[in-house]
Amino acid sequence: MSSTKTLVNRNRRFANDFGAADLPIVPKLRTVVLTCGDSRVDPAHILGLELGDAVVIRNNGGRVTPEFVEEIAALAFIVTKMDRGEPAPFELVIIQHTHCGAERFANQNVQRAIKEQIGVDVSSVAITDHDQSLKDDVERLRNALEVPGHIIVSGFVYDVENGRLREVISPAALRQGSNAHLNNNPKPTTPSLTCESLANE
Ligand SMILES: [Zn+2]
Repeated sequence: MSSTKTLVNRNRRFANDFGAADLPIVPKLRTVVLTCGDSRVDPAHILGLELGDAVVIRNNGGRVTPEFVEEIAALAFIVTKMDRGEPAPFELVIIQHTHCGAERFANQNVQRAIKEQIGVDVSSVAITDHDQSLKDDVERLRNALEVPGHIIVSGFVYDVENGRLREVISPAALRQGSNAHLNNNPKPTTPSLTCESLANE
């Protein structure tokens, strides 16, 4: 049986007992988890996430990329609108992991081969030191003013050999000071975008 058929069959079994039709769009834990796409690092398992608990965004390495910045800025914008403009509490948990494929991107020969053969630059997501990568990623977020400063950000390394998280960056607001609660996005908002239209999506 193909993998796709296996997954569709598993979904049928899941849907037979489905009882989550009334979950709200804003996650119960008001949390975004950013982690690697590695199959050993599934947040539903390692964090015990239930349906409706958290937004999960995964990419190579669990890195803060320009695409991730856009995604979390847009999510924060929508949640703030749904909370009627209040800077509601929201947390971001970044989880990178040991023995990650992104460590191979640090090899100069691998970087060059990927760039030359498929035109993809992986240098910004390469991992050589997990603690430093997490610190760099929080700094990337801090410098991205479209991401509101009041988001609580933390960083962990997950050990694929013992299942434990190691805290590298303690939970703290992304930015302190007078602009911490502001979304400094200079782009004008669309006048027709109301709390009601977002809530009805
Ligand atoms: Zn990985």
